[in-house]
Amino acid sequence: MDPGPFERIDLHTHSTCSDGTLAPAALVALAATRQVQLLALTDHDTTAGCAEARAACHTLGIEFLEGMELTALWGECEVHIVALAIRREDPGLQQHAATVRALRAERVHRIAARLTEAGLDGESLAAGAFGLSTVPTRTHLARALLAAGHAKDLQAAFDQWLGRARPGYVAPEWPDVATSVAAVLGAGGTAVLAHPHRYKLSNTALRELCAQFKAAGGAALEVSIAGMSPDSQARMAQLARRFDLAGSIGSDFHEPGLPWRPLGRFAKLPEAVRSVTARLGLGPANVEKQ
Ligand code: MN
Ligand code: MN
Ligand code: MN
Repeated sequence: MDPGPFERIDLHTHSTCSDGTLAPAALVALAATRQVQLLALTDHDTTAGCAEARAACHTLGIEFLEGMELTALWGECEVHIVALAIRREDPGLQQHAATVRALRAERVHRIAARLTEAGLDGESLAAGAFGLSTVPTRTHLARALLAAGHAKDLQAAFDQWLGRARPGYVAPEWPDVATSVAAVLGAGGTAVLAHPHRYKLSNTALRELCAQFKAAGGAALEVSIAGMSPDSQARMAQLARRFDLAGSIGSDFHEPGLPWRPLGRFAKLPEAVRSVTARLGLGPANVEKQ
């Protein structure tokens, strides 16, 4: 593939504005030390960190894309859609994200009520999750369970309390894929199906998801994600080609302590896959300078 003017790209990252541990400016500073040339900040269902990240990128000479990782539901499967190059202030997209954040907060309270029924102090666990983030995820609840001594690690918190069929399980109710993609397109953005290899779907179901994502206006699949096996990458590349989707690349970086999701360090896109950067029209003459 032709990487265009950018050799090192990271189009999937998280800051403290969702469940990452680095503030946006600190994330950008780390990206600079890794020689990242094009960066997108894609916090879960919020663009709250984008202004800070854009300013830091400007200072350090990194091209920046406004982004967000949208939480959606495909059947019973939670899937994520990375929105790139969005108009951050778009009212439709912001309304969509606010709805998801409200659903997320409501889910934390419903989980907490179930944990109370199971004999735990649900209220203080919920308070713990909201203390870690204004947009808490189940990971924040797991951290609260851990802090209260109810689990030995994050995985155990899910296995014992939060996972499917466990006492604190509440089924998610996110907007569907078509609605989510429409919100991205309405904001002038490019919709990328995030980490397709991580969904627990059969090959047939994954093909069906890709077909529906493409039909809804989706443009790309994440084909090169940090920590992806060569086998998974080959499967994702095949899917991208089959459905004429471009390939995107990113680390899904959350914190410096997780070496398997290293900011800006992962395999290049396979040759046969078009880069999403071409789709974004990113060339020396096209990159928007702000
Ligand atoms: Mn996350
Ligand atoms: Mn994700
Ligand atoms: Mn992510």
